[in-house]
Amino acid sequence: MTVQLPEPLNLIGGSWVPAQSGRTLDVVAPSTGKVFTTIAASGASDIDAAVSSARHAFEEGAWGRMSAVQRGRIMIRISELITRDAEELAQVESLDTGKPISQARADMVAAARYFEFYGAAADKVHGEHIPFMQGYDVKVVREPHGVTGHIIPWNYPAQMVGRTLAPALAMGNATIMKPAEEACLTVLMIGKLAMEAGMPAGAINIVTGEGHVAGAALSEHPGIDFISFTGSPEVGVIIQTNAAKNFIGCTLELGGKSPQIVFEDADLDRVLPVLAGAIVQNGGQTCSAGSRALIQRSIWDKVVGRLAERFKELTAAPSEQDRELGALISGKQRDRVQAFISGTDSPLIARGKVATGSPEDGFYVAPALFGPCDPQSTLAQVEVFGPVLAAIPFDDEKEAIRIANGTEFGLVAGVWTLDGNRQQRVAKALRCGQVFINGYGAGGGIELPFGGRRKSGHGREKGFAALHEFSTIKTIVHNHG
Ligand code: ADP
Repeated sequence: MTVQLPEPLNLIGGSWVPAQSGRTLDVVAPSTGKVFTTIAASGASDIDAAVSSARHAFEEGAWGRMSAVQRGRIMIRISELITRDAEELAQVESLDTGKPISQARADMVAAARYFEFYGAAADKVHGEHIPFMQGYDVKVVREPHGVTGHIIPWNYPAQMVGRTLAPALAMGNATIMKPAEEACLTVLMIGKLAMEAGMPAGAINIVTGEGHVAGAALSEHPGIDFISFTGSPEVGVIIQTNAAKNFIGCTLELGGKSPQIVFEDADLDRVLPVLAGAIVQNGGQTCSAGSRALIQRSIWDKVVGRLAERFKELTAAPSEQDRELGALISGKQRDRVQAFISGTDSPLIARGKVATGSPEDGFYVAPALFGPCDPQSTLAQVEVFGPVLAAIPFDDEKEAIRIANGTEFGLVAGVWTLDGNRQQRVAKALRCGQVFINGYGAGGGIELPFGGRRKSGHGREKGFAALHEFSTIKTIVHNHG
């Protein structure tokens, strides 16, 4: 299939325009390491224009006057258009991110589903009536923040548009998206589909460029009313500091070191494929990657032996070969992951492969299984964001919970046991935002509130929780005597 790549333009006020400086950035294909297109390298003046256009759309334009049901219908139309163009979008996503084509196809199903879910929800968020003193009538209404900023990473560009823009739009906010400079082509393509669907000018603005330039300008801008960020903890601190300076709220989704806890009574035939899958999904470049396998000591040899066999088969290959994983996003990311692999003192149990014939300049890393890892070691504590699994033994339930909760992160956890009481006890004791019992991950999980604690961030995305984040409540007290 021949795909048409988007031009190096921003979407501002319903028009496609170059960066005011005229500058562009090269975009590299991770599978080959070669430049294949460019994007606009925007600066503070482009962000200014986007904020003005969003403000106008919200306060005076067609978007601000639209009823919830009308907003929802446009969003459902966007969902249909993503589905119509899913194959082209998936081809571009795998070219831009290096991910295997079937993972990119699954991402488009999820991206469409976000717009469908939130489009259908747009007119279903209702307020409250409070019984108050005699002679009073009190209602609590839910309102949009106004203009919302959205900064997203490169690992799931199309899905992230759905995840963050769709709930904000459903609540009636006017939005500005700054996608990641490494991979943002499908974000621009979905912006085009949104315009085709009839999205009013200024409701969605997309400004591409570098994080420390365009991203910084957006997060510092006094004209935004809320900011949603997904990315590294280091940048999360900057975003939260800027939000504080502007006295606005923010949601931060910053990654994790998520454990899967395997007790001795677990159904190993179900566990093993999921343990391997949850760390090679998207090359391990997933905030909710299951990057720690906590294994009860009594079954350590059996589990690790079978896991090692599986790891030896795992193969990184160009996206069109559609193996378990593709190339990592960049040379920088590959070198970072390789440094974790070569720098650890933990024993290497097994290593996967890079497919023979993969382009030499592509950013491939063979998956690696390490263990037994000390729970305090770097591999067991630091987010690698690559296909590296740290296996950690434990003796009993108490120790498993202590190790699982013993990092700075708290995003997702998996609990594998057939004992119903233990399932409940452990799920309750884990300090994180999502727990899966006898499973892991939810293939998008649009309906399921998602988010972290501590270094994994705060605030919730997905489900109805996201609609609450992207809105604020107002209490209206009427003294009618
Ligand atoms: P990663 O390390 O995974 O690339 P980052 O946190 O650096 O994650 O990037 C996530 C998003 O944050 C990207 O869109 C990036 O451009 C943006 N970004 C990076 N630095 C800044 C910054 N100083 N201010 C605002 N946004 C930034």
